[in-house]
Amino acid sequence: GRQLGNYRLTQLLGKGGFAEVYLGDHVRLGMKAAIKVLHTSLSEEETRAFQQEAQMIAALSHPHIIRVLDFEVQDGIPFLILDYAPNGSLRHKHPRGERLAPSLAIDYVMQIASALQYAHDHQLIHRDIKPENMLIGNRDEILLSDFGIATAAHSTSSMNTEMMMGTLAYMPPEQLQGKPRKESDQYALAVTLYQWLTGELPFQGSSTEMIAQHLTKPAPPLRDKVSSLPVELEQVVLRALAKDPKARYRQIQEFATMCDTALKA
Ligand code: ADP
Ligand code: MG
Ligand code: MG
Repeated sequence: GRQLGNYRLTQLLGKGGFAEVYLGDHVRLGMKAAIKVLHTSLSEEETRAFQQEAQMIAALSHPHIIRVLDFEVQDGIPFLILDYAPNGSLRHKHPRGERLAPSLAIDYVMQIASALQYAHDHQLIHRDIKPENMLIGNRDEILLSDFGIATAAHSTSSMNTEMMMGTLAYMPPEQLQGKPRKESDQYALAVTLYQWLTGELPFQGSSTEMIAQHLTKPAPPLRDKVSSLPVELEQVVLRALAKDPKARYRQIQEFATMCDTALKA
């Protein structure tokens, strides 16, 4: 098979919007790693963005954030070497439409929120929160991954770029309007939790329909779909889905704690 740097690529682990990720075997040490290579040949700007992704993860050290091992370039192809998460992603573990026990869903939310609170405290917004980007580690711990479009808080980037990136089903109004902020990750995590609790996304349809709904339509009450859910939990999720980021919880950690408290009420 193909070899990149010290790694022989043995199997395709996953594909995202931008990259292919392979399982790699170190040719001399035998250890496994995940090798992330971008699909297309990269422009200079894209290469820079990719290296920035690597630097961003490298600067973070948290039990629920995937570790980057190295970044290399071979024949002009840059690739990222990551800790291998042997149990796939939460999208893989819980296919679309599956409804999770609230205690399990909130356990996931607590782990991801601790990673995001840490990122936010380091002035970083992830901007692409969804189950595909949550990996499962060796001890079944959840690892936040894919900082490919993460951005420094307060940075401004063009609306066009914002709209093309990320995933519409999870995207808050302010990010659709090109002004992501920390609370944008809370909204996307709340969409994810909504999906886990009800088996459905709050907003569906074509891209244009989804955008319109994120911008103006209140999320349908969760208990219309699953009447057994605690009212308190529904209220917490709907608050995190507020159109106005200031109406959400101030910190993502608070959102997660409130979910946990609501479940135990
Ligand atoms: P993209 O930026 O294109 O979305 P990702 O970094 O999200 O690429 O990786 C795409 C998919 O590859 C993930 O959804 C996951 O299934 C798989 N994957 C990514 N990183 C790893 C890893 N470290 N270990 C195992 N699988 C991974
Ligand atoms: Mg991804
Ligand atoms: Mg990405």
